[in-house]
Amino acid sequence: MSILARVRPEILALEAYHPATWKPGLVRLHANENPWRPEGDGSAGGLNRYPEPQSADLARALAGLYGVDPACVLPTRGSDEGIDLLVRAFCAAGRDRVLISTPTFPMYGFAARVQGAGVVAVALTEPDFTLDVEGLCAAIDETVKLVFVCAPNNPTGGHPGRQRILQLAERIGERALVVVDEAYIEFCTTPSLANDAVGLGNLAVLRTLSKAYGLAGARCGAVIASPALIDLLRRLLPPYAITTQTIESVTACLQGEGIQRTAGQVEQLLTSRHTLAEALAGLGAITRVWPSEANFLLVHSHRSSDLLRLALDAGLLVRDVGTQPGLAGCLRVTVGLEEDNARLLAAWSQA
Ligand SMILES: *Cc1c(COP(=O)(O)O)cnc(C)c1O
Repeated sequence: MSILARVRPEILALEAYHPATWKPGLVRLHANENPWRPEGDGSAGGLNRYPEPQSADLARALAGLYGVDPACVLPTRGSDEGIDLLVRAFCAAGRDRVLISTPTFPMYGFAARVQGAGVVAVALTEPDFTLDVEGLCAAIDETVKLVFVCAPNNPTGGHPGRQRILQLAERIGERALVVVDEAYIEFCTTPSLANDAVGLGNLAVLRTLSKAYGLAGARCGAVIASPALIDLLRRLLPPYAITTQTIESVTACLQGEGIQRTAGQVEQLLTSRHTLAEALAGLGAITRVWPSEANFLLVHSHRSSDLLRLALDAGLLVRDVGTQPGLAGCLRVTVGLEEDNARLLAAWSQA
């Protein structure tokens, strides 16, 4: 049996949509486009033309970045789209469910609810928010199709551990797909599971250019999985999902210097994370700062609403995550420029 047996049968039976033929050297009289470029169009491909359907250049660039074969990579509009695609492929409305470990990134539950799928939540084990492998395995039944593991976890900041995730995948077997969201893996000492996802049929990895790579506005991420699963997910995407600007800017950014610049920025943010964590822990109003393997810090305060207001008065936004299960009084702070971190510390030292 393969994990594809857990995909919705109507999706397995779906016939692929065939977009207009992609032959860049030939004159396009087959796609009903306007023959003139718009004013100020700086793109190479021309914004009057449809982009290459599911761009091979982009898939190759991302495959190179993540060290996997292009057949194992599906470029998406951010990893948010990867989450949505997986939920739509696997979960039938009113019947199937996703399994999440709370507190976590709210998009997993959101995508499930949009699809009309159910959400089963198993709490991360306090005080360190450890992944509860036993609890997750016990929660698996015929209706659970996807198990989302956020590694490092947003908003708690810790990585569940490679071995724990692989153990979870092994115990679940082909009953459900384990989806490891590695949005912050570049800030973390644990290596990516991308290569494991390519080899193991029941594991998929989500990556994004929005965080460490500084391309949140380009909307580009990737699903990494076995070629069979990637092929199936590709059929669900609209043919021209990714814009010409994104294809061109991302492939340019991922060549040579862009990668080096990112590595330097990650180094800088890790140093700032360390300094900021120590300084926050020293503030009277803050009761706890969790260790982080991401570019943010989770803090607890008995006066979190005062801290929110002080930050806002200083022109700074931090995220109130206090309504999430187990996170009453908690705030999430993104590590920013040194001067902005210093402004936050100055504002909060008045509390
Ligand atoms: C930010 C974030 C994402 C979303 O990334 P996009 O690629 O911008 O859609 C996905 N997962 C987690 C855990 C995140 O924090």
